[in-house]
Formats: sequence, C-alpha cells, structure tokens
Amino acid sequence: MNLIGLAPDEMIQADIRTLIHPQLSADHLQRVVIVEGHGCTLTGADGTTYLDGSGGLWLAQIGHGRRDMAEVAAAQMQRLEYSTCFWDFTHDRAVELADRLLSIAPANMSAVHFTSGGSEGNDAAIKAARLYHHRRGDHDRTWILSRRGAYHGLTYGGGTATGIGSLLEGQGPHLPHVSHLTAPHSYRRDLFAGQDPTEFCIRELEDRIQQLGPHNIAAMIGEPIMGVAGLITPPPDYWRRVREVLTRHDILLIADEVVTGFGRTGEWFAAPDLCMQPDIIVTAKGITSGYLPMGAVLFSKPIADVLRSGVNGFPVGFTYFGHPVACAVALKNIEILEQENLLDAARDTGQLLHNLAAPLADLSIVGEIRQAGMTLALELVTDPVSRTPFPDAGVAVGRRLRDEFGVLVRVSAGSSLVLSPPFVLTENEATRLIDSIGSLLRQITRSQPTV
Ligand code: PMP
Repeated sequence: MNLIGLAPDEMIQADIRTLIHPQLSADHLQRVVIVEGHGCTLTGADGTTYLDGSGGLWLAQIGHGRRDMAEVAAAQMQRLEYSTCFWDFTHDRAVELADRLLSIAPANMSAVHFTSGGSEGNDAAIKAARLYHHRRGDHDRTWILSRRGAYHGLTYGGGTATGIGSLLEGQGPHLPHVSHLTAPHSYRRDLFAGQDPTEFCIRELEDRIQQLGPHNIAAMIGEPIMGVAGLITPPPDYWRRVREVLTRHDILLIADEVVTGFGRTGEWFAAPDLCMQPDIIVTAKGITSGYLPMGAVLFSKPIADVLRSGVNGFPVGFTYFGHPVACAVALKNIEILEQENLLDAARDTGQLLHNLAAPLADLSIVGEIRQAGMTLALELVTDPVSRTPFPDAGVAVGRRLRDEFGVLVRVSAGSSLVLSPPFVLTENEATRLIDSIGSLLRQITRSQPTV
C-alpha cells in the first residue's frame, strides 16, 4: 500500500490496522502522526507543531533534522554501507568510534562492544559479567542485583533487570537469578521505614548479599540517575557506598547510562560525578542523538581481557554490530556535541529550566522538583503533606500539555512530569515549556479543591 499522500485521518486508520506499538495501553488509543522535526520542534501530519520537551525518548541531544548528519550518513552509505565485524573482519568507522568513545569515557574503560540499542547492551553486559566470573573459575556467580522501578529495556535479560513487573506479564519464565532492591527514591519516604534512605539501601544491599551468598552474585546493574522511574537522583553518598560494598564482595557494577550518557547530565557520562566507578557502562540513545539505532557497551580492562580469552572470545553480538553508517553518524554526533559546546549548553539551559520552574514548588500539586543537567522532573501529588501521587497524570497533565499547549513532556512512573529536551533548546523555548506547565498546573490546582 502506498501511504504517500494519505490524509492524516487515513494515516491514523492505517496505523490502527497495521501496527503493534510498544506498550500501547488502552489510555493511548489516540494517535499523533509526526512527519517532520527541526531543532526542538516536531510537526504533525495535520500541520500542528509541538515543542519537544522530551527529546523523543530521552535523546535528540543535538536537535532534530540536521542536514550535516544526513550528509554524513549519505556519504558513508555511498562508500561502505555495510561490512561485518565478525571473525577476522573490521572496518575503519567501528575502530574510529571505539577509539573516540574511549577518549571520552571514564579512564578505567578499555574496550568497546557495539549493539543496536540499550536493551541489547544490558543483555551483553549481564552476559559479560557472568562470563567474566565463570572464566575465572567462579562458576556460581550468576545472580544479578537490580532495583525496583529500574528500566533496563525489554529483552529477556534487560527486561528481567527492569524492575517493572507489569511489563513481564504472560511471557513465561524470565531470566533466573535476578534480585531487586529498593530504589533510592528519597521523596517516597514510606519506602525506607523511617530510616535515612542511603543507610536503608546499604543495609538492604548487605543483607541481600548475605542471603544470596556473596559467591553467587555476578553484578549489580543500575542507572546512575533513574530515568523511567521518574528521574530519581540518588542521595549524594549512595553510589560511593554501594560501590564500596560491591568491591568488598568482588561483585561487578554495571552502569546503565542509556539515558544519562552523552551529555544529558552536562558531562559525557554521569557515573564519575556520582562516584559510581562502574566496571561496565551501557550506552545507546544519545550516542547518535537518535539519528540511527546504535548502542555501545564499554568494559574495564580486567573484563575486556577475559572477554578476549577463550575459544569463542565473547560469544555475543549481532549482524548490525558496529554498523558503518551508525558509527559514522555517532562520530559526527560526538563532534557536534563537542564543537558546539552542547554539554555546557545542557548544563546551563538545564539550570535555566530549574530556575524557571522553581516558583512552581509553591503549588500544592508539586511535591518536589528534581534536576540533573538537561533533565527536570516535577513530582505531582494530590497533597504535599501526604505525598500521595497525583492519579492519571499522563492523561490529566501530559496529554493536556500536548493538546492544549503544543508541548511534549513525558509522565513517568505515573506521577513524575519529566523534561529531557534537546540541548539546543533556546531561552524562549525553555520559557515557553515552563510557562505552559505552570499555566496548566495552576489551572488544575484551582479547579481541584483537594489539590
Ligand atoms: N536503559 C535505560 C536506562 C533506558 O531508559 C532504556 C530505554 N528507555 C533502555 C535501557 C532500553 O533501551 P532500548 O529501548 O534502546 O533497547
């Protein structure tokens, strides 16, 4: 069927007939057909324009629709559109990108494995952690520690590490030997039985390690700052303390930087500033700003050495490992981030968003404001004293911002309104984003006496 020239309504009908969308709940039976993007603006098939406050799904760092990215992709396709990196083969773009990634990664990272996205990267990281111990004779180290509410993708490996049970419904047995801990979501104080969140989390970690047996645990996986859970910024000492416990028990630490990597927090990676010191870093999304599907897993030297040993080396990897066009696009993306000082922009404009949003903390619907670089979250509550999550915020707030204000935001974990815009967001666009959110939240506060 030729869809070109379909009217917006026909396109929506064709979508409903033909596509199985990811995570399409009954709440989202509406369709918004996007046909163009430039900078921070997306345009719908009916001509409506939207200010993209979400950066798609936490990416679009350099903004939408850049001609220089298209030119790099076209040039690479004409020179070498595909060649494999299996067995003896390699190609210049994969080598260049691996080298470039190591030049911006924390100093202990020593080798790179490419994927097509974040879930695949987390699977590779979990396999690598188990294999690392296995090849060193620690055959029982199979358990993976994760956290409730975490998002590590939806493959069987990453999906089991993801701490959102509803996403596993009816799909049979998942990855065995995955155990979830409490997330350091300080605002949700009911999680910590009246104790300090860090102390609670560290004690729980120590207890769990003893329950499972330290010699049965391969790794802990965690997002430095939890994205999908609602931009959960951990207490200052959390990761340093976790790392210290893990090191004591020879348990590896996997940082899932799929959201936080490539400048989202104002640095290339979020782990160093949080004293996380991971052994493995998983990336995707911002590595190409979303221009092509790609991910990369970075390994410290001891792990890389083990993965290079053995008859099969690291027996993980797919057809599109180090796809030349995706590598060329990632290299250009990193060049743009650097040359246009977009990490500084992420830090500065993120701070501006925070300053603009700060007065909203006086509204009773806003329980807490969290920010890290170019991400900002407003925790929506029915009452700041009880901290009861605001119900159906996706529909009541997210959809209304889109339909009435032309502003795209994400509502995560039910009640966290999260912004993660492109780093090229202008001051005017930042003001429009926060003004729109402020207007709607004031309206809701006025119309709901209980709020
Ligand atoms: N890890 C994190 C932290 C993520 O946020 C996501 C996606 N939102 C993933 C992994 C999965 O990445 P992908 O969808 O590319 O498989």
